[in-house]
Amino acid sequence: MSDQIVTRFAPSPTGYLHIGGARTALFNWLYARGRGGKFLLRIEDTDRERSTPEATAAILQGLEWLGLDYDGDVVSQAAGAARHAEVAHQMLEKGHAYKCFSTQEEIAAFREDPANKGQMFPSPWRDADPATHPDAPYVIRLKAPREGTTVITDAVQGEVTIRNDQLDDMICLRSDGTPTYMLAVVVDDHDMGVTHVIRGDDHLVNAARQMLVYRAMGWDVPTFAHIPLIHGPDGKKLSKRHGAVGLEQYQAMGYPATGMRNYLARLGWSHGDDEFFTDDQAKEWFDITGINKAPARLDFKKLENICGQHLAITDEAELLREIEGYLAAAEKPPLGDAQKSALMRTLPIVKGSAKMLPQLLEKAHFSLTQRPIEIEEKAAKALDDVSRGILSELTFALQRANWSREDLEAAVGQVAEAHGLGLGKVAAPMRAALAGRAATPSVFDMMLVLGQEETLARLDDQAA
Ligand code: GLU
Repeated sequence: MSDQIVTRFAPSPTGYLHIGGARTALFNWLYARGRGGKFLLRIEDTDRERSTPEATAAILQGLEWLGLDYDGDVVSQAAGAARHAEVAHQMLEKGHAYKCFSTQEEIAAFREDPANKGQMFPSPWRDADPATHPDAPYVIRLKAPREGTTVITDAVQGEVTIRNDQLDDMICLRSDGTPTYMLAVVVDDHDMGVTHVIRGDDHLVNAARQMLVYRAMGWDVPTFAHIPLIHGPDGKKLSKRHGAVGLEQYQAMGYPATGMRNYLARLGWSHGDDEFFTDDQAKEWFDITGINKAPARLDFKKLENICGQHLAITDEAELLREIEGYLAAAEKPPLGDAQKSALMRTLPIVKGSAKMLPQLLEKAHFSLTQRPIEIEEKAAKALDDVSRGILSELTFALQRANWSREDLEAAVGQVAEAHGLGLGKVAAPMRAALAGRAATPSVFDMMLVLGQEETLARLDDQAA
């Protein structure tokens, strides 16, 4: 057997891809990518009634947005039903499973009897002689050990011991011949060569049951790493109120994927005190040993700060892609070609001072808008008669300026001085004229991005 690491993300397409699922995918991706391994994607669509194509599409889209590429094709669990049934029958032949003919009514009657409270249904067919089998529908149940314990050696949780009397004879194959998730997940992980199963710790008890299938088939058990759930900022289980919404909504809110990847990696995993890191660093550093045992808490302030740091170091072309994705996700109008090239010129001066994409776009507003500039009320206050007169002088002075920062600073400085005003006083009407806003990037930065012709036209529009 090769010792290549193989991980997988195995979501059930029954709802949106939430932040916990995204983090599970990320951990598996980082672990494989940092070790020259493979990261596989399997859609666990065995539950035909609850699985929807929309949920599958949301998963694929979410992974694409987060930049988590997978190797090979997407595997559909449902497509492997024949193989799953084959394994169930092999377990039957080996005596690790049995046909159970108990009807739904018999099981329900057992459960309803108060005397059986808390007990698992003991199938009378477990040790029945096949010669006595009726010609009736049956399920295939795993013959779970009745005594002793099953120990899971978990890379995060340590040794977890489950009493075997807690493990029922789980159904592997339903009476209609379809496999259950519990069987399918093991067969698929084995057949796909998965070496490390990193998933939410809500699957820990399942792992004990799944171990029994590995044992029955004589297969190698993968390394299990069950990661604690994500909690809300108040330490309570994550709910919609906390932001347990679909990943696509994070994109629509304007979090950049680069920052999201960094933050999610830090959510429940640490590498010393490092909060901010690149993808390459994360791949190099990520290890299961750094996963915390305690649930992680979602902290939106931290998320925003990390996002801001990533915006500052992301190159313009990548930022433009992020922005276009955000606008589409937020159902906002797309950028035209002229706006895209204006943004490419503007991003270098604004990307260091925004945390999220909407804020970045707000700072770049001056270059995306067109004459006649719409002026916000707050900005309009700076346009009194005196200020309009100053804009007029400025227009005149700037006509002769070389369009260099030094020249612009000198020209504006001279006009300010002539009126005995500080630079800030002159800058306010300029902001209003150039951007229509009271808060903008520096007037010199704006003038340099806009160029001489456009700057003069905007100043002149508001000049007395
Ligand atoms: N399909 C399962 C889920 O979405 C995950 C199974 C696994 O990772 O083993 O919860």
